[in-house]
Amino acid sequence: MRFLIILLIVAYITPVSAQLHQQLYERYDTYKETSLSDRRFKPEDIQALLRQLDSNFAKKEAGRSVEGRPISLITYGNGPAQVLLWSQMHGDEPTATQALMDIFKWLASSNDGFDVVRDKIRKSLTLHFIPMLNPDGAMRFTRRNHHDIDINRDALRLQTPEGKILKQVRDSLKADWGFNLHDQQRNTSVAGNAASVSLLAPAFNENRDVNKTRGDAMKLVRYIYDQLQVFIPGQVGIYPDDFEPRAFGDNIQKWGTRTILVESGGFEQDFERQQVRKLNFVLLISALESIASSSYKRVDVKKYHEIPHNENRRLHELMLFNVSVEGLIRDVAFDRRETQNTAARHYYATGNISDLGDLRTSVAYNRFDASGLVVEWGKLYPTIFETVNDLQKADLTALLKLGFTDFIVVEPVDKFSTVISLPVNIHSTMPAIIKTLRLGSNPSLVFKKDEVVKAVVVNGQLFSLNN
Ligand SMILES: [Zn+2]
Repeated sequence: MRFLIILLIVAYITPVSAQLHQQLYERYDTYKETSLSDRRFKPEDIQALLRQLDSNFAKKEAGRSVEGRPISLITYGNGPAQVLLWSQMHGDEPTATQALMDIFKWLASSNDGFDVVRDKIRKSLTLHFIPMLNPDGAMRFTRRNHHDIDINRDALRLQTPEGKILKQVRDSLKADWGFNLHDQQRNTSVAGNAASVSLLAPAFNENRDVNKTRGDAMKLVRYIYDQLQVFIPGQVGIYPDDFEPRAFGDNIQKWGTRTILVESGGFEQDFERQQVRKLNFVLLISALESIASSSYKRVDVKKYHEIPHNENRRLHELMLFNVSVEGLIRDVAFDRRETQNTAARHYYATGNISDLGDLRTSVAYNRFDASGLVVEWGKLYPTIFETVNDLQKADLTALLKLGFTDFIVVEPVDKFSTVISLPVNIHSTMPAIIKTLRLGSNPSLVFKKDEVVKAVVVNGQLFSLNN
């Protein structure tokens, strides 16, 4: 009997939301907006999705960008607490915009086991979304707006129509909560790991004081942090919290809206940030549920300060340790550079040396110890291929094992759309093979033991040839 009573008590006090974040994570694919799968989608892609929203949502044009693109305001629910979420104020920070499209699909669903949560959100909150606040920047996949103004430094001067729209919407709602949704650099680290998500309850003054508004935001940040630990332990940090008097997050906190900054970061080899998009979906719905149920109020605000902060050292893509070449032993770090086409739709990536020397205190996504290995420069294959297809048909693994990393292809190659299955360099004319390790350079390296090639590095990508 006693056992039964305990069971009943546990069942009663365990909120419906106890496992919400895990359920959302497991069933995410049901709600994923599959028309978006990479970062360089365009304003018209988002507008097309917004046009399809059903009668659960109210849609209006909040205003227009400098170049005349519509900036939409989407509203859902009819509860007393006003929640404003805005994404992609920086045009090249698109992860959360995709997650908002996934959240719309989730909000529009029913009879899927989430109706209780959805009803609670709808009756307690009114959600206001501005997806893609900077469509002109998104069009070119650049941070700033048409006039090269950083909208996030325009909260006071209000010279950008995009910033004016955000201010006007916030003021008209007197929003109770604000979610400021950004992306941070892939090389941002926390505790030696990728900072896949960083969070912040922005300061509203130089002193970084805590008032009721910011205190509530801090509690919710800690709530989100705890939930994310299930999925990405050690990969969540606090974003730098210096007061920036010109930024929106800091000012919106100051204007009385409990504000939470979410920064989507890097994750393993997921360059299009689809995994972090999924985490945005989970964390945002969980946070909305927590606001609706007031569960965040039970969080001890002091625990906000225990969250690790983003580190200053950047996370390299690849670190090679103890590389013995040119008569020196050096560690070599590679970072990734993206070059996009003029339509800002496609890109190719190169890996360039970003640091050299004793790098034992540095951190990286991938690490390789070259101790005891002979290092040679990658070689140009003497036979010329007519087409990329011909090259693809060759046994590239066998050629890499012979130390050939660079190939000449006669047909013009569109670097932006050509994908080769293995890391090799393609040239159209006789290239100058790089035979030195220099900052910014991009040499191909071959690692041998007993005359057998164990691994190659091409374009900053490590490819193991261990069998
Ligand atoms: Zn940003």
